[in-house]
Amino acid sequence: MKEIILSVKDLVIHYPIKMKVNGKLWSQKNRVQAVNGISFDVYKGETLGIVGESGCGKSTSGRAIVRLEKPTSGQILYKGEDIWAYDKEKLFEYRKKAQMIFQDAYSTLDPRFTIGRSICEPMVIHKMGTREENEKRAKELMREVGIPESYYERYPHEFSGGQRQRIGVARALTLNPDILVCDEPVSALDVSVQAQVLNLMKDLQERMELTYIFISHNLSVVRHLCDRIGVIYLGNMVELSEKRELFSNMLHPYTRALISAIPIPDPEYKREKIILEGDVPTPINPPKGCPFASRCIYATKLCWEEKPALEVACEGHQVACHIYGSKKEIMQGLMKEAKIPLPKREGLA
Ligand code: SF4
Repeated sequence: MKEIILSVKDLVIHYPIKMKVNGKLWSQKNRVQAVNGISFDVYKGETLGIVGESGCGKSTSGRAIVRLEKPTSGQILYKGEDIWAYDKEKLFEYRKKAQMIFQDAYSTLDPRFTIGRSICEPMVIHKMGTREENEKRAKELMREVGIPESYYERYPHEFSGGQRQRIGVARALTLNPDILVCDEPVSALDVSVQAQVLNLMKDLQERMELTYIFISHNLSVVRHLCDRIGVIYLGNMVELSEKRELFSNMLHPYTRALISAIPIPDPEYKREKIILEGDVPTPINPPKGCPFASRCIYATKLCWEEKPALEVACEGHQVACHIYGSKKEIMQGLMKEAKIPLPKREGLA
């Protein structure tokens, strides 16, 4: 049986809206509802992809996992223990075990530090070894990620974007973490460099038994790297499945639209593109029912009134949509009444 290394349970992150009136900050009743009750498990050694459009709450969830963002409610359990209940000592240990790779590697490196010093810094903070031992480890990691150790004394501005991202990966690995939260780590890179960094991450994962939570808006990248994929829309997990199952049997109308937008490098292959219409609701005042109802061609009054829960549709595949959940009979009756055809089962090879 697969070992669960991390569990996110009903994670909610809301931000109060503050306004300045006559020089004073006033907190308003309304809140930006960035994450609205997301739950998922992460298995040891797997890569879980989290996808969704900008502002859907995927990065906020990732930041909460490494304790950079405080949840409004819910729990994040690492090996069964709530990371938000840790004392100072346990938190210090957890910082070693959960590391993050950021999208903009340049802004995470101090321009006044050589990259050697930047890679050694986490080891110095965690009092991990002598200066010589740390330097040896940093050079080892540089070699692992394909940066010559002779560049140890160079500064961040002397590297290309791809090299800086490799340095970011090396620095995240210095403390021997279990979990790496990778927040759009290749989005800012050229396609050819993206492939190099992704292959490097895959290779390091196999050798170091790492667990990745890979956040991206790019389904092609996620398809290449991940074992399971969770799709987030407006702060809600709407589909969670094994990768192969998701691509061969996509269920949620939002996932279908996302997948239909993936470019296929075959001019002969024709696939219907789903263009979503309607507005994305504001996270300050999300709909009472299904968050996707304003853009869904299958929406009925049930969708507007009741939010669908994330339910098991088949083995290893969960979806939050009334068409497939426990209310499917009522939903299908309403669709028949409104002459809305059921979605065709389709998938990618
Ligand atoms: Fe569309 Fe209704 Fe399913 Fe939401 S619950 S995705 S509105 S069909």
